[in-house]
Amino acid sequence: MPAIRGSQSKKKTRRHTRDIDEISEDLKSPRHLTRYQSTKHPEDLPALGAHYCTECAKWFESEFNMISHKKGKGHKRQLKQIKQGAHTQREAEEAAGLRVDNGIREKKSVDEEMVVDEQVGETT
Ligand SMILES: [Zn+2]
Repeated sequence: MPAIRGSQSKKKTRRHTRDIDEISEDLKSPRHLTRYQSTKHPEDLPALGAHYCTECAKWFESEFNMISHKKGKGHKRQLKQIKQGAHTQREAEEAAGLRVDNGIREKKSVDEEMVVDEQVGETT
């Protein structure tokens, strides 16, 4: 959520929609989506939640509104965002120069590295 309106705007969550990573999970598994939708009461949703755009995580009053939304600029921009994927912690670290990707350490998980460390500790 952009903070262009000052630090106070970060605290406002009324217009906060789903994040890109949540939406891409929704698209992958319908169960994930249903779990999210079941957190809302149908009577609070426009048209009792009948018209939903999964990519934008938005409900619409009528089918006509949803169809015209899907032709619109906002929806296409959102599709592009999802295609690019959510930013990962790894990308952030690479951008900050915290990690050098030489492709060797990639296969080791954090757990394995910890086990190796313990073994070294016992032999010395
Ligand atoms: Zn949409």
